[in-house]
Amino acid sequence: QSVLQSQDPAIWAAISHEATRQKEGLELIASENYTSAAVMQAAGTILTNKYAEGYPGRRYYGGCEFVDDVETLARDRACKLFGAEHANVQPHAGSQANMAVFMTLLKPGDTFLAMDLSHGGHLTHGMGLNFSGKLYNAVHYGVRESDHRIDFDQVAKLAREHQPKLIIAGASAYPREIDHPKFAEIAKEVGAKLMVDMAHYAGLVAAGLHNNPVEVADIVTSTSHKTLRGPRSGFVLTNAELGKAIDKTVFPGLQGGPLMHMIAGKAICFEEAMQPSFKQYGQQIINNAKVLAETLVAGGIELASGGTDNHLMLADVTTIGLTGKIAEEALDKASITVNKNMIPYDKRKPLDPSGIRIGTAALTTRGMKEDEMRKVGAWILQVLDAADDEKNINQVRTEIQEFTADFPVPGIA
Ligand code: PLP
Repeated sequence: QSVLQSQDPAIWAAISHEATRQKEGLELIASENYTSAAVMQAAGTILTNKYAEGYPGRRYYGGCEFVDDVETLARDRACKLFGAEHANVQPHAGSQANMAVFMTLLKPGDTFLAMDLSHGGHLTHGMGLNFSGKLYNAVHYGVRESDHRIDFDQVAKLAREHQPKLIIAGASAYPREIDHPKFAEIAKEVGAKLMVDMAHYAGLVAAGLHNNPVEVADIVTSTSHKTLRGPRSGFVLTNAELGKAIDKTVFPGLQGGPLMHMIAGKAICFEEAMQPSFKQYGQQIINNAKVLAETLVAGGIELASGGTDNHLMLADVTTIGLTGKIAEEALDKASITVNKNMIPYDKRKPLDPSGIRIGTAALTTRGMKEDEMRKVGAWILQVLDAADDEKNINQVRTEIQEFTADFPVPGIA
């Protein structure tokens, strides 16, 4: 019996059930992944005990010599992995990394240009209820109705018209490679700073499979827990000059003590992403997404933009008579986890949109390849073809439970 089990059986039980769910189900949420056992171990260490306000060599607390080593390694590795001059690895999450950029570059009321949430942008890119939409003047670009690709004519037009101080590229639900150099060109023309939020595809950038925003943007923000496969956290990459201002904004501007156990986890994930095996992993994510997309399309499901270049796809399930909410719930019962999602130009509402978002990063970590993706696609179709047929759903769930036993999750026995 573990210490946790004997001391707090209720929490232990919930964690055990979650471990079983992660092991026996198909995880297709595009923003999730399974960290390595080493990352997981670091995130659960005694580093959680340590306060370390400040930065390596300049702390407001004693006893920081060893956590200084951890943070210095994390910063150096982040810079090496992405080719950046400066890294701040203290943001607790992606939202805090983005907030640090807003607070560094903008004053309340200033205008910025970013992707519309309903076209694939993130909450922190100016959604009305988010700090970014409340404190600043958000102007939004989107994708073309005809092909669901970013409409650069619209980006340029809005940039000229509104003269934003900041342009944001990057998205949470865009299945195509983003042309960062094109954004940089437009930002330069109107004198705006360019921030790229690469949270979703950071792992593909690290693997050299997506153009690297660090080469063209003033600031790049990211989470570490999606395709990059690290602990739940955030970081900021920039040049030496802006780096000083970003550091001041993160601490003392936004946060108190950094989470040193998570910074250790980030350091480990950056090192893992520099290994040749990570490049193979990234390529397999993309190959898997392509095969899964083809399987779904062959089954009558329409995908936004017709397919995918990266780790995710947006499936319009109204084409088979369902809604995103119904599809998510039916798949969940079959142990297939996805999230309902707006599709571009959706006529339905966010809580019951037309689509579901599907990503392959987590299943690829378990070692699944093209053949397995065909099976996964067939199960998705089988459930969605009879979304209210409990017997059908139960049969799929049983098959998936058997199938997943051959694909271990790192860190789960
Ligand atoms: N930026 C993008 C593009 C995201 O997709 C997300 C998370 O989904 C975030 C930022 C925010 O990350 P977090 O949930 O860690 O605050």
